[in-house]
Amino acid sequence: MQSLVLTRDGLQVADTPITPLMPGDVRIEVRSVGISGTDLAIWKGDLDAPLPIILGREIAGVIHESSVPEFAPGAMVTTEVDLACGRCWYCKKTLKHLCLTKQTLGFTVDGGMREYLSVPADLIHLLPDGVDMLAGTFVEPLASAIQTQIDSPVERGESVLVIGSGKLGLLISQIYDATGADVLLLDRNRYQLGIGRQLGLTHTINTEETDWKKAVLEATSGAGPALVVEATGTPDGFTMALEIVRSRGAIALKSMHGHDVQINATEIVNREIRVVGTSRGPYSKALDMLSKGRIEVNRLVSKQFTLEDGSKAFEHANQPDVTKVLVNI
Ligand SMILES: [Zn+2]
Repeated sequence: MQSLVLTRDGLQVADTPITPLMPGDVRIEVRSVGISGTDLAIWKGDLDAPLPIILGREIAGVIHESSVPEFAPGAMVTTEVDLACGRCWYCKKTLKHLCLTKQTLGFTVDGGMREYLSVPADLIHLLPDGVDMLAGTFVEPLASAIQTQIDSPVERGESVLVIGSGKLGLLISQIYDATGADVLLLDRNRYQLGIGRQLGLTHTINTEETDWKKAVLEATSGAGPALVVEATGTPDGFTMALEIVRSRGAIALKSMHGHDVQINATEIVNREIRVVGTSRGPYSKALDMLSKGRIEVNRLVSKQFTLEDGSKAFEHANQPDVTKVLVNI
């Protein structure tokens, strides 16, 4: 089968063997894969992964072959990405994504940018009515965005500052907006902020055009937001979050993409700030929100590429005026 393989020399399409179907597994014929921030970080060398590796964790496709009756060939599906042991302390607490010996598709083992992918059936989720292949590639990041809101809820009318208007920031902003929070979306990218406004996020702040601190403080009675979500995956975003969050407020971190961050921990103590990390989330809730049309994803897709043009897809995804890039197989 054709696969997009990342080697020390970059991305290349290669012929790789199809993994045999093990008992309890389902083989997906992959149709579309989103390029995630993690994929980009590995490709750029910011995040270590064993090379060669097939990237891709935002996966949608159809069942090609199945060893379990619940999943018939032809069904449209997506898959979770953590392969857990099922026996350790975390697995027994149903926290499989924190499994002590977990493997993650597209990070520690081969991911979805290939024609066929076999995974344990318990990772598979059927795409409900109203969720097509394109939307199916958003389930993984949307689930993670939903978990951020579950872990760091705010009351109706409370202020949430989302730093970063890329795909994740736009998903998170929509989720908090749907719960009645007052969302402030901040970035320096005019194109992405424009998409945010198209999605109904009325309060956007461009750091290149305005004094962002002044703008945020004016919008939050001078005290700062109750919650800041860092969705840029950069140390600078974390530093900004700590500068502006209200005392007794919270900072939600999505990913640091392997970056070390130097922070003033005394400030966290003295201003009584909570810092909450979130990595994975509930696929069932993400699928439910997508099927009910509560989250808009079509406008977040900047461009689609074929697997043969996978290398160009990554180059494109690394440009500033981009939200999400798909690789179709
Ligand atoms: Zn485990």
